Amino acid sequence: MQNVLLAKYGEIALRGKNRHLIENALLKTISKNLEKIGNYYVSKEQGRILIENKDNNFEYDKVIPLVVNILGITAVCPAIKLDDSNIENIRKNALLHIKEHWSDKDYTFKVETKRSDKNYPMDSREISSDVGGYILDNTDNLTVNVREPDITLMVEIRNYVYVYSKLIKGFGGLPIGTSGKATVLLSGGIDSPVAAFMMAKRGVSIEAVYFHSPPYTSDRAKQKVIDLAEQLSKFTGEIKLHIVPFTETQLKIYESVPPEKMTILLKRAMFKVAEKIALNNGSQGLVTGDSIGQVASQTMQAIEAINSAVESLPVFRPLCSMDKQEIIDIARKLGTFDISIRPYEDCCTIFVAKHPETKPKRSIIENIEKNIENLDILINKCIENIETIIF
Ligand code: ATP
Ligand code: MG
Repeated sequence: MQNVLLAKYGEIALRGKNRHLIENALLKTISKNLEKIGNYYVSKEQGRILIENKDNNFEYDKVIPLVVNILGITAVCPAIKLDDSNIENIRKNALLHIKEHWSDKDYTFKVETKRSDKNYPMDSREISSDVGGYILDNTDNLTVNVREPDITLMVEIRNYVYVYSKLIKGFGGLPIGTSGKATVLLSGGIDSPVAAFMMAKRGVSIEAVYFHSPPYTSDRAKQKVIDLAEQLSKFTGEIKLHIVPFTETQLKIYESVPPEKMTILLKRAMFKVAEKIALNNGSQGLVTGDSIGQVASQTMQAIEAINSAVESLPVFRPLCSMDKQEIIDIARKLGTFDISIRPYEDCCTIFVAKHPETKPKRSIIENIEKNIENLDILINKCIENIETIIF
């Protein structure tokens, strides 16, 4: 008998030829998350993922959060795995399992059996009633209820026998990689990591771009984004973070445009760089953390004036209709909130206009942009000097 964890994933999304790729991506993310905490072995097992501990020292409290939160995992079940499928062995271990997990008070229960080994000498119903009867005879806090039991004890007879009775739900969503790829503009704030997560939840794999303007933005600001990307990757699987040196472009825009229009033009320049990166890495869209009306640059007029900088990709704003509190609630669940609110000195506030325009006109903005000298050259230079970190 061995303690294991079974992880279930969205099978419906997996019928295509990408199945193996996606299963392998999930295996890789789980293995990576677990490698820090012990000697775990992760494998595919007939449409599930099986997690075992090589030293038979399974620490569920540590393992479960690192697996159940990976996108595409619909649920995990702490289970026992039996090599010997003899009915007496199943009975005995099912009883031990029940006693271990459900001894604290009275419960109703039933046993459900799935049998993929059709040569097994008993059918599913016989196994269920045999195991159920044995448990009933050897406990005094359980009664049978087949329609609405507190506990459903699952007995699955596959290559091995698995017995479990608890199912811990995951975020659901689609497995990463089933829905193409997007490039998220990841700042150190609260919103953009949540936006990345929302896209990932629909199966979109994520690359990230951060615009760094040293010395105006500090190394600690950059470290924050690195930490955010690392934290996000626990849910989304591998993330490539591209750090774009933005100082020169930012200064050029600062010198060239009226202060109240600066933010809009800065954002347009970011979009232009991000679009080139996205097209290079095979993304089908960009993602931002905009929420309508949250700040001056997120009014509908500002979004229109910024958006036209992108020529050929859709820009997704999965938080557009959400209130700040809703966004914060998700950020807390993801563990990104505490990173996002870390204080850091923004050594210089020259890039923050006192009175930013809230209703910019796209045509005026586009005309001003045309007159910024060498903007295209600066944007290309950004691309040439990217630093990329993989999580
Ligand atoms: P966030 O909480 O994500 O920082 P915010 O409410 O502070 O968002 P803004 O600073 O106006 O809003 O940024 C809006 C969006 O623009 C961000 O969600 C992010 O997608 C993108 N963005 C802003 N600054 C940067 C940056 N330095 N690098 C990458 N993306 C950025
Ligand atoms: Mg911000």
